Amino acid sequence: WKNAPPNLRALVELSRAHGDRLATILEEDRVSFEAQYRAIAALARALEARGIGKGDRVATAMRNLPEWVVSFFAITSLGAIAVPLNAWWTGPELEYGLKDSGATLLIADAPRWERIAPFRGALPDLETVIVARADSAPEGTEALEAIIGTPNDWTSLPDDSLPAVPLDTDDDATIFYTSGTTGAPKGALGTHRNLVTNILSGGYNAARSFLRRGEAPPAPEPKVFLTVIPLFHVTACSATLMGAMATGHTLIFMRKWDAVEAMGIIERERVNITGGVPTIAWQLLEHPDRAKFDLSSLEAIAYGGAPSAPELVRRIREEFGALPGNGWGMTETMATVTGISAEDYLHRPDSAGPAVPVADLEIRADDGVTVLPVGTVGELWSRGPMIVRGYWNKPEATAQTFIDGWVRTGDLARLDDEGFLFIVDRAKDVIIRGGENIYSAEVENVLYAHPAVTDAALIGLPHKTLGEEPAAVVHLAPGERATEAELQDWVRARLAPFKVPVRIAFVPETLPRNANGKILKRELKALFA
Ligand code: ATP
Ligand code: MG
Repeated sequence: WKNAPPNLRALVELSRAHGDRLATILEEDRVSFEAQYRAIAALARALEARGIGKGDRVATAMRNLPEWVVSFFAITSLGAIAVPLNAWWTGPELEYGLKDSGATLLIADAPRWERIAPFRGALPDLETVIVARADSAPEGTEALEAIIGTPNDWTSLPDDSLPAVPLDTDDDATIFYTSGTTGAPKGALGTHRNLVTNILSGGYNAARSFLRRGEAPPAPEPKVFLTVIPLFHVTACSATLMGAMATGHTLIFMRKWDAVEAMGIIERERVNITGGVPTIAWQLLEHPDRAKFDLSSLEAIAYGGAPSAPELVRRIREEFGALPGNGWGMTETMATVTGISAEDYLHRPDSAGPAVPVADLEIRADDGVTVLPVGTVGELWSRGPMIVRGYWNKPEATAQTFIDGWVRTGDLARLDDEGFLFIVDRAKDVIIRGGENIYSAEVENVLYAHPAVTDAALIGLPHKTLGEEPAAVVHLAPGERATEAELQDWVRARLAPFKVPVRIAFVPETLPRNANGKILKRELKALFA
């Protein structure tokens, strides 16, 4: 890591060293690092020829495609700002992202462009549209294939260099939108430094549990990843993709998440690492057909981005023989801030791990100033080279969240005496019942530990005199049964009486989640209403 690249163009140049190793796989498309490099160089030159330069915003709206990766690095190595839009968004939401970022060029796959096209008239800044994977370029657009060919042609592209635009580590590189779990998504303006920092942090996280025990960590070898979370979220782009470019990992994409298809891919391609969000791990663990597949190549199942049940840690270890891993981060921190895996995680299955060496964490009181002692729950603040510059176009929200080099996270947490972080709730979700605080994670984890429960969320219901009361929404594993009273007794036997949900609703499907695997508590509240 001594030679960690100072910006994303240097990372692209470095990735060429992985040569014929596969960089991305999507069904019949298998793209080597060399071919990927050539496509990035060809597209960067084409974007430059279309007038794109430093600081210009170039949006992408695509599912996980090899073209996503190529576009991302073509844009950023040119000094332009990549704006990866959420592929789950509807037409009006995509229009919001394009307007908000002021993108002048868009690279979209055909289904996304169909959603955006009706709004083009309302987007005067948007000069050029390039559409990928269309049978023919829709009116007023160019076909990406006409510029760089299809993924299987990329090996025969000319051996061109990347445009030599001057690039500084502190130049702007990305606008990633937050997940929109608590309100409208906000664009977080990130830099090259924010992203390349993660290469180091990711490498360190994988090694830490071994280093803490004085053991030699496994060497960072190229692995095969099944990447099922979307690249337009920082976790996949910043944690997984950055490490892949540096180390030569192969990323396998899926057109759509499906547990059976995923297990087929794991067996066929000898996948070493998967996960992303906790719900993916659960769906693999609990699938009735799991035994039909050879999943022995799995070495690690790592996730983050949302609360996870401690139960998951033991089950991944025992049932897959793989190492579980977790990490805490947010769009505002360009993902990785903490990490935990291996022995450390097996011993502290409710922790998200200690901060990476470049990051600082503090637990502060509501006043935002007083630092609280070890073990006390308060708001988590974080600082370091991974913190983004602020929110794009939102000076007020920026002033409230980014203070003196620190980011105010909106998460409630505690740290132990070794610096391990324990997230207890989002400040916005904490339930205050007659003055007593109830943290969702604590009650949810007790519910998860019940053998029949596979998915659970705690929410607050309004109450006239107490302010709020806790209620739970639960999904049971196939073939399992449990009543409201049984689950209330289960919680009562383990937690103080005021934490017992006054109502428990059973839903036939897993709980509603956004593209980043986070439960949409706002929707659940509406269900009770
Ligand atoms: P918005 O800010 O738009 O409401 P969001 O906060 O869900 O959406 P992200 O930036 O994708 O958007 O998510 C960051 C949040 O995810 C954190 O603030 C935290 O609440 C949660 N989170 C991330 N990692 C973990 C983890 N390992 N354990 C528990 N919660 C986590
Ligand atoms: Mg947030």
